[in-house]
Amino acid sequence: MFTNLEHLGLAVHDLDAATDLYTKLLGQGPYKKEHVASEAVDTVFFQVGGSKIELLAGTSPESAITKFLEKKPEGIHHVAFEVADIRAEMTRLRQEGFTLLNEEPKRGADNKLVCFVHPKSAAGVLVELCQTISPTTHD
Ligand code: ZN
Repeated sequence: MFTNLEHLGLAVHDLDAATDLYTKLLGQGPYKKEHVASEAVDTVFFQVGGSKIELLAGTSPESAITKFLEKKPEGIHHVAFEVADIRAEMTRLRQEGFTLLNEEPKRGADNKLVCFVHPKSAAGVLVELCQTISPTTHD
């Protein structure tokens, strides 16, 4: 089950400048800054009610964010939904004909297991599923 619009991921060139901008825009500072080595990104998170804004900057030429910004302007990179059971949703989406970008859930930022749905199978939007890792989740 999809339970929440968890966050919007925004691709930015300059993370510090974007953090300052969003601190002004939202009237509050971020609650977390995190480097995700597996994705070669630095991330900054802002809480906005029940949802979040995730700023993403690539830290290597191979980063998906760096490649995205070589082709497109800064802006919305992905839309993330919280799900109760990521493996169940991955199975369901495969049966519905969606193309998933990873075979298994992987460790994402902000203490989450994540999986991405290819934009070509989701009306041009890169969709992220995320499930909060509880202390009893072994992964
Ligand atoms: Zn995300």
